[in-house]
Amino acid sequence: MDRSEIRKWLTTDDPTELATLWRMADEARRRCVGDAVYLRGLVEFSNQCDRKCTYCGVRAGADVPRYRMTGQAIVDCARRAAASDCGTVVLQSGEDPDLTAEWLADIIHRIKSETGQAVTLSVGERSDDELALWRQAGADRYLLRFETSDPVLYQRVHPPRPQESRNRFDVLASLRRMDYEVGSGVMVGLPGQTFDTLANDLAMFAELDLDMIGVGPYVEHPATPMGADREAFAAPAGHQVPADQETALKVVALTRLVCPDTNIPATTALATLDFAAGYEAALGRGANVIMVNMTPTDFRRLYEIYPAKACMRETADFHVKLKRRITSVGRTVGAGRGDSPRRETRIAARSEA
Ligand code: SAH
Repeated sequence: MDRSEIRKWLTTDDPTELATLWRMADEARRRCVGDAVYLRGLVEFSNQCDRKCTYCGVRAGADVPRYRMTGQAIVDCARRAAASDCGTVVLQSGEDPDLTAEWLADIIHRIKSETGQAVTLSVGERSDDELALWRQAGADRYLLRFETSDPVLYQRVHPPRPQESRNRFDVLASLRRMDYEVGSGVMVGLPGQTFDTLANDLAMFAELDLDMIGVGPYVEHPATPMGADREAFAAPAGHQVPADQETALKVVALTRLVCPDTNIPATTALATLDFAAGYEAALGRGANVIMVNMTPTDFRRLYEIYPAKACMRETADFHVKLKRRITSVGRTVGAGRGDSPRRETRIAARSEA
């Protein structure tokens, strides 16, 4: 699918055409990754951050109490995740300047030896030495959304650290070299994002040959520069992508069509717009993964990258209900790690060559 076709789908609101898009995405999902929905246990282990992303509620300087969980508490969350059928644990944090590579390597090592789960990291832009150390310690996957393929918009929403020339695409290239499963993605409806930009983002997913792609609607946080002055960031009327559920679902569906054998989560941001049926909507339009929040509630409250996150409304037995919701839409709960089928294909191609 080329950019102009992607763009056409992004701007259609014809119900018959959309029904076709949903059907094509669901068929591609069934054919390329099957019916299993893999659960990942998400641990938001630190909200310390030295970056100033204009969209994010835990950006440096935001008025929010800061925390970093202890290694033991993180490993305990991973164990709880394993007991809830999560074959993967995702360790996510702000870009925490005081997090040492050795500390995290030790936690990765402990989780790998105690639970055998796959470990995914989502801790922002780090040096090659750190990424290599974590890979050696057993980390399997890394999530780093490039947020937008438009370099001007990127600079505006994600100011670089002083003197830093390395950007997120450089980090993604390093991760690929180190043989991580590489995940990325964008927000849908980010102020300043045009339909052309978003079509380029989708084309970029294919170019990067990603193993995992997370897309969710931008959710405004009032206590951020972007939330305080949306108009100052927005693209001209008619060009600005809306941050609504339908548009985000179109992007999920198109992502499945451009990257058919990649893992695609039904994201928390989508569930935030539709708590009752957001996950089902995404599962029916290409998604095959769900992240279950395993962060202790006291910390979860403080990891407020945007307000009213769906996970704040979840009860302690949420994962039990979630499994029922998955089977009620005709899918199965995946057993095991749920590795990227894309990566397997890539490795097979490499060994044939
Ligand atoms: N510090 C890590 C993890 C960030 S949180 C990193 O920078 O990679 C994970 C993702 O949440 C971000 O990549 C971003 O795409 C998304 N996010 C942040 N703020 C958001 C908002 N206001 N609305 C929707 N998604 C948001």
